[in-house]
Amino acid sequence: MSRYRLSPTLEQELGLLEHCAQARFVWNLAVEQHSWWRPGRAAAPGYVEQARQLTEARAEFAWLRAGSVTVQQQSLRDFAQAMRNFFTGTHRKPSWRKAGRDEGFRQVAVKPEHVLRLNRKRGRVWVPKVGWVRFRWSRTVPNGVKSYRVTRDRAGRWHIAFAAIPDPIPAPGTNKVVGVDRGVVVSAALSTGELLSVPGPTSGEQQRLDRLHRAFSRRQRGSNRRGRVRRAIARLTARITDRRKDWVEKTSTGLARGFDVVRVEDLSIRGMTRSAKGTVDKPGRNVRQKAGLNRGILTNGWGLLVTRLEHKAFGRVEKVSAAFTSQQCSACGHIAPENRKSQAAFQCVACGFACHADVNAARNIAAGRAVTARGAFQPLGEAVNREPQLAPLAFSSGGCGLESPGLSRGEDVKATPTRGWRPRHPRQRS
Ligand SMILES: [Zn+2]
Repeated sequence: MSRYRLSPTLEQELGLLEHCAQARFVWNLAVEQHSWWRPGRAAAPGYVEQARQLTEARAEFAWLRAGSVTVQQQSLRDFAQAMRNFFTGTHRKPSWRKAGRDEGFRQVAVKPEHVLRLNRKRGRVWVPKVGWVRFRWSRTVPNGVKSYRVTRDRAGRWHIAFAAIPDPIPAPGTNKVVGVDRGVVVSAALSTGELLSVPGPTSGEQQRLDRLHRAFSRRQRGSNRRGRVRRAIARLTARITDRRKDWVEKTSTGLARGFDVVRVEDLSIRGMTRSAKGTVDKPGRNVRQKAGLNRGILTNGWGLLVTRLEHKAFGRVEKVSAAFTSQQCSACGHIAPENRKSQAAFQCVACGFACHADVNAARNIAAGRAVTARGAFQPLGEAVNREPQLAPLAFSSGGCGLESPGLSRGEDVKATPTRGWRPRHPRQRS
């Protein structure tokens, strides 16, 4: 997915927001239809039935009729895909979309003449009902673009993403294998001994963020001043997020270029970041530590790193069992909890091998055997206009040896949606 900064005029912005509103309206209708379903009731309508209903609704409401039919239909298609993902078990149930937070729409049947380069730095794209919208030509637009998605983030920036599966990076052919260990203190430790850290907020940024969050909670709900503080928070958060994503892209490209095989731990981030609170009957244990760990995992963008690695080093990423990687000696194989002297130090009690604890874990991962095979590309037979998608990840059920503090096997934790990384302050509300 290559994303570009879109620069609509004020007038165009209104048109784009209208598309977003209609896409969201249709999506929320679909969510409502499916929320009525209970065991024993007739099945909620699928895409074909919903598309027929959309035609009826368009005949009735001038507001919908005035909008783009492809935008509205694609919203239904996206919803159908979201439901499929939900039933496959890779994603949560699609939920309500909210103005200001979920602004975006998708346009399909894009022809080559709809994307033009104007000069070295500018291009323009045709958006139905809106016209030619300029965007920053920050890199080459991939060939054969068939669809794009336009989004507006909470900081008010517009982006356009042209759908194309990037060409995988060819393997260097050196037979080199690298193990990557994820962590909270060190974001990624390589078996080569390299320690990589995701850039987080600077101390100045963190201070400003804390101050803004305090100001935010003091402002009256719905007031202009509260809105101003919210936008300031969104801008700052966007900057921090961008930096983290940039790190993920550079790191994954570096790994895909430098090694033939990249081995990572097989663990489900979703399972690990579930709420630590538990239920009333079974309260969770070590709630504080877990909350900190959850934040660390999400901040460090581990899930995104693995996803991008799988795109770039297609078929060369292997997931290995995560059991005992932190307790096992990578030199002699001896497993003992006493091997781990501290968060950072590892020294084997059997052979005396000493090394950074995360690097030792990464060496174990590099030596591990794959537990899951990656699937092939999903056939695009039924819906040619759909964005190209990679096959859903096959999560294996085994191997949840979580060595991090406060997480133990089989503990009852309540699943609460976690929407990506959040700033430090818990009191943020919109
Ligand atoms: Zn040893």
